Amino acid sequence: MKDHTEMKHSYDFNKIEKKWQKVWEDREVFKATEDPQQRKCYCLEMYPYPSGRIHMGHVRNFSIMDVVSRFKFMKRLNVIHPIGWDAFGMPAENAAIREGIHPREWTLGNIAHMKRQLKRMGYSYDWSREVTTCLPEYYKWNQWIFLKLLDRGLAYRKKSWVNYCPQCHTVLANEQVIGQACWRCDSTVEQEEMEQWFLKITEYSEELLSGHELLDKWPEHVLVMQKNWIGKSTGGHIVFPVAGMDESIEVFTTRIDTIFGATFIALSPEHPLCLRLISDLPDKKKLQEWIVQSKTEQRLKKDTAEGEKDGIDTGKKAINPYTGEEIPIWVSNYVLIEYGTGAIMAVPGHDQRDFAFAKKYGLSIIEVIVPPGQKPVGELEEAYEDYGTVINSGEFSGLPSQEASAKMAQYAQEKGFGHPSTLYRLRDWGISRQRYWGTPIPVIYCEDCGIVGVPYEDLPVELPSDVEFKGMEGSPLERVEQFVQTECPRCGKQARRETDTMDTFFDSSWYYFRYCSPHEDRLPFNPQSADYWLPVDVYIGGVEHAIMHLIYARFFCKILRDLGLTGVDEPFPYYFGQGMVTKDGAKMSKSKGNVVDPDDIVNQYGADALRLFILFASPPEKEFIWNEKGIEGCYRFLNRIWAFFQENADLFFMEPEERGRDSVEKIPHRLRIKMHQTIKKVGEDIDKRLHLNTAISSLMEYFNMLKKERDLLNNGDGQRAVFLEAMEALIICLSPFAPHLCEELWEMTGHDTLLARLPWPEYDPDLAREETVTVVVQVNGKLRDKFEVARDLPEDEVKEKALGLNRIQDIVGKKEIRKIVYIKNKLVNIVT
Ligand SMILES: [Zn+2]
Ligand SMILES: [Zn+2]
Repeated sequence: MKDHTEMKHSYDFNKIEKKWQKVWEDREVFKATEDPQQRKCYCLEMYPYPSGRIHMGHVRNFSIMDVVSRFKFMKRLNVIHPIGWDAFGMPAENAAIREGIHPREWTLGNIAHMKRQLKRMGYSYDWSREVTTCLPEYYKWNQWIFLKLLDRGLAYRKKSWVNYCPQCHTVLANEQVIGQACWRCDSTVEQEEMEQWFLKITEYSEELLSGHELLDKWPEHVLVMQKNWIGKSTGGHIVFPVAGMDESIEVFTTRIDTIFGATFIALSPEHPLCLRLISDLPDKKKLQEWIVQSKTEQRLKKDTAEGEKDGIDTGKKAINPYTGEEIPIWVSNYVLIEYGTGAIMAVPGHDQRDFAFAKKYGLSIIEVIVPPGQKPVGELEEAYEDYGTVINSGEFSGLPSQEASAKMAQYAQEKGFGHPSTLYRLRDWGISRQRYWGTPIPVIYCEDCGIVGVPYEDLPVELPSDVEFKGMEGSPLERVEQFVQTECPRCGKQARRETDTMDTFFDSSWYYFRYCSPHEDRLPFNPQSADYWLPVDVYIGGVEHAIMHLIYARFFCKILRDLGLTGVDEPFPYYFGQGMVTKDGAKMSKSKGNVVDPDDIVNQYGADALRLFILFASPPEKEFIWNEKGIEGCYRFLNRIWAFFQENADLFFMEPEERGRDSVEKIPHRLRIKMHQTIKKVGEDIDKRLHLNTAISSLMEYFNMLKKERDLLNNGDGQRAVFLEAMEALIICLSPFAPHLCEELWEMTGHDTLLARLPWPEYDPDLAREETVTVVVQVNGKLRDKFEVARDLPEDEVKEKALGLNRIQDIVGKKEIRKIVYIKNKLVNIVT
């Protein structure tokens, strides 16, 4: 027998955690190897930005993922669980300006530090697959993909109005403007006209939408956000001729059924026809000024739904092709050029904005839809926007809205003045950034040849390292002559290099492909490896990425598929968004001063306690509220387990005969029932629902029972074996949550295997059955009542419950109870 007198009743997490981290690393326990014979499982968390330190939000995200990943290892799946760094981006450059440190140095220094922090948490990463996006070996492939898109016309350059953040000194994608503010620094975003590179994500609008059908395991609200962002509307295009001019105005409408109620046309100030329509008016100067001013205002304030609706009458008329009637043409600031055709048919009776505008300028309002079964109101107080029955609409009157729409669209098509059509709100993705710390866009401008892509064999276009970060004006790359000046690859003449770099969301759109073959040097990734590992089986990360990263990544997967590099349509069939980490009623953040540093907690309580607490305190999708008491509770729980194992250590060194499975299985003791129930519950909570908090509470409950049932040890007869088995099950099931402590206890109790490599225990479905049983109650042999009890409820408690039933009390009354018999799970007989 092993001498265990030296074992202490305290838990030296520091020593234990370091020890096991080293063992896992030395033995390459979590190294993933492609093996087509084995079922794979791709576990992925959103890779972190190397800001300097791991924060609690990371700890939460990564701890959830780690439990899943460790569980899948134990379920004998071929798990890949990689990690890397979203290493380009603005903060590095700002640090360079502020502190004079080179962005590369700053970033790599942060990565080294954060890597140590992650290792201290004991996460089951395959570090051999680490990917760092700011290294040429990664961003070379950004450039490669970009050139492929350029070849296919999916990357293009155009002059356009862009969102510009004066604080960050760069352009923002539409997705990066929240309200009217920069998503990163909250500054009010300005509008500027610039030449920009765009990716044609709109080409994939429909597929991004229909692909949602494959994403039935995504949170509904994320799908809704994406759906709104893509913003599909179906309707029709209708052409209104301009009376007396050889011009016409095309509008898009989702409500053709209201077209007989169109009383004016409203053009966006940016509509190309505006200035022409007013060119012969006496006060055209004033009107022109109004148009120019409205354009600028619109640019600055995108959300025109809120502002005052203004407009001018062009004096021209359009002809409603359905009625032949002439209606006035207005220019109005509530019509945007980006949406549809930049012109609308205004139906004040059935659109509230049109209604407000018509009221303001005294334009007529016609009622053409009534609620089903109702009469026209006559004078509308507000627009009636719902569907209903069409009235005042010639031959279409009396039809329900939907049917009228279909018939009217058909009519337009037959007559040749319109057709049914679909519109999307999604815009092409502007990827140009006027910053240094990003992937150089691999393009050269030649006076003779125009835009020339850098030849593939010249990739990567490396970022020059000798750069000055003086101030914020323009991109620092513009000032690096050796970088800018180059030769045209086509004609050899002097040419200029593009100095814009890519939006870092480009990098994160395909990093999960790179993990599959991180050292591949002929292609962005090895297609065979990607097809083995992908799609990602579980993807976990913050829901703040619902419309940027999660749309761009889906888009890239489809692009890579169309480039023939993968057969995968949707990269993340199962995405899970963890909730925020808060303290004192606010999200943990430096600016709020409520940050708890994971390092401090690990120093004080150990990584296992932190992991356990962050998973235990709330369901993973809900907000997590930090509190000191909670972490102490989890720490104490681990210590109690530690102590309990010390106290009962001799058990683990019992003779093999005594341990025999036979004797264990003969005893359907309630501890065994509980054990099988716990194995089942914990496994299903992890696997099916990600209810890690309830998995932990059932382990706590189970441990309490173990402590209560300790007397079993004195009974002999195989009971000691039951108890031993039960204790082992506890640490096996707890190991994905608190892996270090569990490995230590496992070793301490005489095992030379690694828990991390142990199979997850099978439960006995018979014993794990959780359901209750119906127990019949008899009084003196007569059936009097029945009730439900948990099938493993101790006899005494069942009897007590039976006696407590109202009907039984009525019958028994004050009589003396002479005998009470319980036949397990069947009946209670009371004899008076
Ligand atoms: Zn900003
Ligand atoms: Zn040239």
